[in-house]
Amino acid sequence: MLREQTIGVEAEPSAAEAAEHQRLDALDRLDAVDAPRNESFDRIARLIQTIFEVPIALVTVIDAHRQLYKACIGLNIEQVERRDTICRMTIQQEGPMIISDTLADPNFATHPHVTGGLKVRFYAGASLRTPDGHNIGTVCAIDTKPRSFSERQTRVLAELADMTVEYIALRQLASIDALTGALTRRAFRESGERAIALAQRHKHNLSLIALDIDHFKRVNDSFGHAAGDQVLAAVASACAANLRQSDVFGRIGGEEFAIILPHTHRSGALEVAEKLRAAIAGTEFRLGGEPCQITASFGVSTLDIATTDVDGLLANADAALYQAKAEGRNRVIGWRPQPSPESHARRRVLKAGQIHFNRRMSTVDCTVRTLSEEGAGLDLSSSYGLPEKFNLMIRSDGIDRPCRIVSQTERHVEVEFC
Ligand code: GH3
Ligand code: MG
Ligand code: MG
Repeated sequence: MLREQTIGVEAEPSAAEAAEHQRLDALDRLDAVDAPRNESFDRIARLIQTIFEVPIALVTVIDAHRQLYKACIGLNIEQVERRDTICRMTIQQEGPMIISDTLADPNFATHPHVTGGLKVRFYAGASLRTPDGHNIGTVCAIDTKPRSFSERQTRVLAELADMTVEYIALRQLASIDALTGALTRRAFRESGERAIALAQRHKHNLSLIALDIDHFKRVNDSFGHAAGDQVLAAVASACAANLRQSDVFGRIGGEEFAIILPHTHRSGALEVAEKLRAAIAGTEFRLGGEPCQITASFGVSTLDIATTDVDGLLANADAALYQAKAEGRNRVIGWRPQPSPESHARRRVLKAGQIHFNRRMSTVDCTVRTLSEEGAGLDLSSSYGLPEKFNLMIRSDGIDRPCRIVSQTERHVEVEFC
């Protein structure tokens, strides 16, 4: 067991760590990190900009290591490190946080977003507070000039925050993704669990394919979000055209899809994935008047003794997918189950982690996305400069273990425990 091999972690997390653990659970339950971009968030950001007449308006969620902009007007940024944000303080308090002039406030005068390129002079932020009291993100109005903000304006901002939370909760109930026609993440999980129950009862095979479009950010950056949306819809059509009626096809993230294939063993699923890979790579796209090739990377996993649910299948397929990314993208990799009979399923999780190296003198915050007895998948702001071996600490689970990088992309590493 992981806990038995733990070294040097204090037994009890502090009250703040326990609260953060629950906050991340709330974020996970709402699927708010992986949920695709959405026009409704853009609309809320536009409202903030118009009502308060500010140049910068944001709708954000905050996970363990970063603030992710779900909608953003006035800045061309998608995420920032959590420790550098002003919003990390907003989510620690009950009501909205208003700073009329950051330079006149000793708590913020030297903040990097005040003194650096963003030049934040005015900040008004309200937390996205879930009904059970967890602050999962923020809506904010930002200006590069000092300004005042009335009580009425503060109330309006708080209402917009509550509207955003209601929208996040409502969106979870949808079962079809409007842009691509694929199942939403929740519906995919539900249909997938039914297919798995059938496969287990009748003892037939079942496999899962996860795919993620390669360098999709470049498409958005070069040709705009509308072109990006067209690519997403076309990739979904190319997949749907190559699948069977009984396959379960879902959009599980912005540019990530997954397919559950009943009655399909590992090699059959690898063949299907290869067919989908070729179909996407062979689709002709014209973006900005120029021909453009779009590719995707694939991970494949199969039901086995240790892997018995959708999350386990997704976690294994994800690990293989990240390997496909690290090995050059536009390829299919099959998950290889651990040979050890004691091996357990990899789980999808959302937990705070710290990477320690350089005799614990260097620390990098990360968000743990998959976890098993053998290893973990970690999201972080930049994997650049990480040593091949480091210690991973997950305080909520009492884990502090040496590990080794198995595969690595710019913002993700897969590790195995040594
Ligand atoms: P990689 O090959 O490593 O997967 O690189 P990537 O650029 O595809 O990955 P990254 O995670 O850095 O960027 C994914 C981008 O997908 C960022 C986000 O803005 C974009 N995206 C997510 N959802 C949507 C959407 O619904 N529409 C559009 N147009 N873009 C989206
Ligand atoms: Mg992705
Ligand atoms: Mg991608």
